[in-house]
Amino acid sequence: MKGGDVTDAGRVGIIGAGQLGRMLALAGYPLGLQFAMLDPNSAACGGQVAPLTVAAFDDQEALAALARQVDLVTFEFENVPVAALEFLADRVEVFPRPAVLETAQDRLREKECFAQLGIPTPAYRAVGSEGELQAAAAKLGLPAVLKTRRLGYDGKGQLVLRRESDLAAAWQVLGGAELILESFVSFAREVSQVAVRGRDGAMVFYPLAENTHRDGILHLSLARAGDPLQTLAEDYTRRIMEHFSYVGVMAFEFFQTEAGLVANEIAPRVHNSGHWTIEGAETSQFANHLRAILGWPLGSTELVGQAAMLNFIGELPATADLLQYPGLHLHAYGKSAAPGRKVGHATLRLPAGVDLPAALRRLTDALEMR
Ligand code: AMP
Repeated sequence: MKGGDVTDAGRVGIIGAGQLGRMLALAGYPLGLQFAMLDPNSAACGGQVAPLTVAAFDDQEALAALARQVDLVTFEFENVPVAALEFLADRVEVFPRPAVLETAQDRLREKECFAQLGIPTPAYRAVGSEGELQAAAAKLGLPAVLKTRRLGYDGKGQLVLRRESDLAAAWQVLGGAELILESFVSFAREVSQVAVRGRDGAMVFYPLAENTHRDGILHLSLARAGDPLQTLAEDYTRRIMEHFSYVGVMAFEFFQTEAGLVANEIAPRVHNSGHWTIEGAETSQFANHLRAILGWPLGSTELVGQAAMLNFIGELPATADLLQYPGLHLHAYGKSAAPGRKVGHATLRLPAGVDLPAALRRLTDALEMR
């Protein structure tokens, strides 16, 4: 056997150098890969594990220099300007292809895309003025969720409107940007499908993760075998990935309602609700993203037992307190503490059959995180 034409690419550029870039690099070193990252933040934690160019995402000189250093480029941050990735794509291969970001960066286009592909999504209206907000609220009814079309994440840039009198105040807060009003979905669960599509169109799907948020930020993800909504989630995710000829890892977030799954949003990158795959799956989402973009065979997404991931927001518990738990795997991101900042996570991986939610409750109780 000899090295194939696509397998010789050994240097991967990553746009963004946060914890996702850091975990991509850590997954890539055993595969013989090298990395170079670009991020405007000189303290970005990916810089602790790979060379970091500190530059604005649209700094063409820095982008061109990165393109010369690497064999292909990926991104770990979905709000990179599309024009910057297209500039890179003229010089070096970029996966996922930048076009998907035109949709993923705009909640309105994203919802239009779901509708076009026959994927259920909350009823919505574009809102460009206070009058349009009034009209949209009258049409959709309350409660409803007002969101900025762009640049929202972790619950930022959105407000729940419960009564008529909330409208004017919400317009004061968010009215400077293009907005979308969505029906409020009263969901039984939030789940996400992390999936991978290779350059040859092959696709693999991880077991669904069941997610709990706190203050709009992911708190817990649980992955167990045999979720009854697995097949439906895979069907919807396959439609999106095929539509974009997608290459890499994608996460698709859904609400579970009585009618089935209702699409919330896609993330065209490795995702927080897939961190459990590092220890809880045969191949992690990070290794599989690299396999996909390099044109290598995708790895098995089989569960290894069952797994739950707990995010650490703001600050990390004491390391020794965590490491006393059997089956706990700690990932500290090398970031300084700050309110609302994701500074690390732990994955609790246990054999199938053990009561995972109960074990998780014991852990969160002990850490006073419930
Ligand atoms: P997002 O930034 O759109 O993922 O929203 C963050 C969180 O807000 C979601 O994970 C949900 O918990 C909640 N949320 C967002 N949109 C809706 C909606 N239309 N109905 C109910 N809850 C929502």
